[in-house]
Amino acid sequence: MKTLAILGSTGSIGQSTLSICESFPDRYQVASLAAGRNVDAAFEQCSRWRPKLVSMATEELAGTLIGRLRSAGITGIGVVYGSAGAVEVATLPEVNFVVSAIVGVAGLEATYAAVCAGKTIGLANKECLVAAGELILEAARERGVALLPIDSEHNAVHQCMRGGKPSEVKQIWLTASGGPFRNTPLREFENITPAQALKHPTWVMGQRITIDSATMINKGFEVIEACRLFDLPPAKVRVTIHPQSTVHSLVEFVDGSILAQISVTDMRLPILYALAYPERPEAPHLTFDLSALSQLDFSQPDLERFPCLRLAYEAAGSGQAACIALNAADEIAVAAFLEGRITFPGIARTIEQVLAETPACRAASIQDVLNADVAARECARRVISERAAAVSSA
Ligand code: MG
Repeated sequence: MKTLAILGSTGSIGQSTLSICESFPDRYQVASLAAGRNVDAAFEQCSRWRPKLVSMATEELAGTLIGRLRSAGITGIGVVYGSAGAVEVATLPEVNFVVSAIVGVAGLEATYAAVCAGKTIGLANKECLVAAGELILEAARERGVALLPIDSEHNAVHQCMRGGKPSEVKQIWLTASGGPFRNTPLREFENITPAQALKHPTWVMGQRITIDSATMINKGFEVIEACRLFDLPPAKVRVTIHPQSTVHSLVEFVDGSILAQISVTDMRLPILYALAYPERPEAPHLTFDLSALSQLDFSQPDLERFPCLRLAYEAAGSGQAACIALNAADEIAVAAFLEGRITFPGIARTIEQVLAETPACRAASIQDVLNADVAARECARRVISERAAAVSSA
């Protein structure tokens, strides 16, 4: 029996994880949840799963949840809050597996604490490896902690890597759907609306990651994550556009063999793989119908169309400070785009300028990472308002 802490339990990965727990009650039980801001969902999860500990984003939300639990007569659930609360959830002694799925740098501290406490990690939070990869991997190596990727591409690579030794890997290929603007004429990019960018062709996901897929910076983050997870230089982590999203990624070995992982586009599959590793439990509800497969297309990504992907490769090559800035600037730029303050191509322009203004430096602690993140966000906000001022005075 594995005992789980789920960081980000009310988000889409968190809910899919609970759905796996529902399907495999003799394998997985839930001990603690970090539920963020959604009190209704947190209350429902508390009544269904009766965890020992729940963390909310703020003291006020924790108070609201305590009130709801009390009036429903539910007892025995500790309610904590904030980043300290998420750390408590992640390091609860009876927990042996932590699903890290809090979106953003908010998940960093708790994930790092879980690694330091020796828990096995199912990793869905991108920032952990993009912004703090060196720190987290170093801590994991020191303690012999397994980091099992839940992101579908890295999960696929992890599966294919079992087909050979690390030294036999020539390169890996991360597949990308290409997003909704794969074939949109470049001249129309300035007029892309948030509503258009929020329609992803194959995956249903949160708002930021959907926009990040449309700009392909999401794939850029995944390149950085893959470099860290599989200890590969950026040149050995390639991206291929695969609109069907059926092959989740591929590993090319030195003898010319390429292994690909194919499955349904359902996050429950990589979650189950990570939870059950190194076993493979039977999952009839996740069967892929091979007879329905008629065509698999692969093509090179166009870096003029997707400048964010180019910027991510550049950041991967220049190091930690650039990777922190890439992520922070993107989050601010995506929010500005969704609020109609910058255009779709303005996202890449903002990030490029922030990267140009970011000095190289080494973050030696999670606090250093968080400080560099704050500085990059401030820089991005300034870049956006300076550009807006330049446009309105033009
Ligand atoms: Mg992915």
